[in-house]
Amino acid sequence: MATYEYACPGCGSFDVRLALGTAPATRECPVCGRECRRVYSAPALTRTSPTVRASREREEQSRETPEVVSEVPPSRRAARRPHPALARLPRP
Ligand SMILES: [Zn+2]
Repeated sequence: MATYEYACPGCGSFDVRLALGTAPATRECPVCGRECRRVYSAPALTRTSPTVRASREREEQSRETPEVVSEVPPSRRAARRPHPALARLPRP
């Protein structure tokens, strides 16, 4: 499905969703019934956020050339120290 835009001389523009390649050059206005011309406008392209784009690129690269490791990689998180108050607790 694609969105096609038509311009009515009296009512303005309106959109119609049709199957790809089936849009006629003219269409009847849904409001006043006049014959309307099809208008060519920019497609509704959206920009992908940098985080999502980086994730997709990493996934695609991993699919093509996966990174092979011989051992489990070290954790990226900093080593967690126990809370200092825990040292003061009585031990059995
Ligand atoms: Zn109209």
